Amino acid sequence: MAKENFVRFENVDKSYDGKVLVVKGLNLNIKEGEFVTMLGPSGSGKTTCLMMLAGFETPTNGEIYIDNQAISNVPPHKRGIGMVFQNYALFPHMTVYENLAFPLRVRKIPKDDIDKKIDKALSMVSLQGYQARMPMQLSGGQQQRVAVARSLVFDPKLVLMDEPLGALDKNLRENMQYEIKHIHENIGVTVVYVTHDQTEALTMSNRIAVFNDGKIQQLSTPNELYEEPMNSFVAKFIGENNTFKGEVTELADGKCKVKLSSGEEILSNPIFVKSKGQKTTISLRPERAIIDSRTPMDNNYKGIIEEIIYHGDHTRLRVNLLRNKEFILKVPNISSDMKIKIGKEINVGWNSVDCRALDPK
Ligand code: ADP
Ligand code: MG
Repeated sequence: MAKENFVRFENVDKSYDGKVLVVKGLNLNIKEGEFVTMLGPSGSGKTTCLMMLAGFETPTNGEIYIDNQAISNVPPHKRGIGMVFQNYALFPHMTVYENLAFPLRVRKIPKDDIDKKIDKALSMVSLQGYQARMPMQLSGGQQQRVAVARSLVFDPKLVLMDEPLGALDKNLRENMQYEIKHIHENIGVTVVYVTHDQTEALTMSNRIAVFNDGKIQQLSTPNELYEEPMNSFVAKFIGENNTFKGEVTELADGKCKVKLSSGEEILSNPIFVKSKGQKTTISLRPERAIIDSRTPMDNNYKGIIEEIIYHGDHTRLRVNLLRNKEFILKVPNISSDMKIKIGKEINVGWNSVDCRALDPK
């Protein structure tokens, strides 16, 4: 049975200077075997959280537990954690074998087992037979795979990865995302992963903790995070997002009416709003707005096509709609019979359930 609260942050604050908190009242439970990603903009406190978990920084307040054991007094090398960092390079003067043997020797593993474990770890990252190479003789992607192998070679219960693919080019990065994801699926190790790249987070994770300003804004599965953002920050940070600002004029039966400054009203899903008169920002994913829908929609408006951007698998339309000139629509390219052209008026509709009335930010 996988343990529910294998890693637990409990009310963790962190200040480096004794004044400003860069991590604020953090609570986070991670299941055994789970792949959890901390996702957020630069400076939001992700690395600090990882460093505290690894033991290179100490929480200012609160406690972190691994397998129900408080870890403040456990030194880094006794926490049983594997690590991969973007700039935590391989030892350049050691062969691949020596790099991988290092964490095993520290743990006093016998020589025969060392060889076996290194074979196994290298085959996990498809680098069998590379034992004798020096890091310099490997490509960037291969080096990072050795770093992943090194983090796994001593069978840790927990692996931390901080932007491990940041230095790789796009194709390689995408391949490595799948590779790491598959390794995780195969060996079931618990992974805490840090990235500022939403696509990477959505691709790899069981759950994602969205960070901003030292706080978790939302902790959800990739699907929930995209479909059901709980606040304006998350809606804006993950995926594309159309917004309208307004004020709630009616609230009943699980729906609310939001009046825009132009006077028009949008029937919305009251996620944040609790009462009439509240200010709100509505969030609507581009693909939820439909042109010339055949089925009736809660909201219907006319818009003018301002720009057409071909994207290969779909076309994006920028539409002037309800005085929002940045309204984005996505049209599948199979519907090329729609005769879209700049300046054309189109009917745009969407349902209230898909447009989320969030905090006014
Ligand atoms: P992220 O990984 O999300 O980019 P960090 O955890 O690195 O964020 O940083 C969070 C905040 O803490 C930032 O304002 C950063 O400048 C500050 N910070 C990070 N490390 C240190 C440090 N060693 N000393 C002082 N301030 C730091
Ligand atoms: Mg960082």
